[in-house]
Amino acid sequence: MQLLLMGPPGAGKGTQAAELVKKLNIPHISTGDMFRAAVKEGTELGKQAKAVMDAGGLVPDEITIGIVRERLAKDDCKKGFILDGFPRTVEQADALKNILENLGIKLSRVLNIHVPVSDLVERAVGRRICKKCGATYHVKFNPTREEGVCDNCGGELYQRKDDNEETMKNRLSAYESSTKPLIDYYKKAGIYTEIDGRQPIDKVTEDLLNVLSTVN
Ligand SMILES: [Zn+2]
Repeated sequence: MQLLLMGPPGAGKGTQAAELVKKLNIPHISTGDMFRAAVKEGTELGKQAKAVMDAGGLVPDEITIGIVRERLAKDDCKKGFILDGFPRTVEQADALKNILENLGIKLSRVLNIHVPVSDLVERAVGRRICKKCGATYHVKFNPTREEGVCDNCGGELYQRKDDNEETMKNRLSAYESSTKPLIDYYKKAGIYTEIDGRQPIDKVTEDLLNVLSTVN
């Protein structure tokens, strides 16, 4: 099963990807991990990507696509994979289609965990993190027993600087406008499904698996 998992920052995509890995026993392939692995293995493309990143530049599409091509050809992807963070543009989506065609496969489903912007802002603004152990809480949805104090270790809680309304709204509107063409692309291809990410984590996983049970 070849999957693409999408979702805005804060929608719980990472959590769901981990659940799907357990349930489906296929690898989760995020762009970040893929780059780090290519750089670490010292592949030709990894070296090129590293040179660009070290210089503070954006890795050009041809290198990114090459790294994806090498990754998806590996043995652990034979049973399928969960792609995350690639493609980001319609051009990259075309490139992915091409890569998969050469491997004799195609994308089974594109799953988008959808959460309205107002909900995502509320989630972010209420988020609190323990300075000592890194546990995360939410003032409304997952409060600590004592305000400002970690339940696990008694550490002091803090709020991340980026977790404010202004920053989140800007980030999310940039995300929405950049993914819109991609969503249209996969809707047209007839493989796009939106999942309601406002539900409890277990329910979101259940919905994802229900969709996948209809995919062959
Ligand atoms: Zn703590």
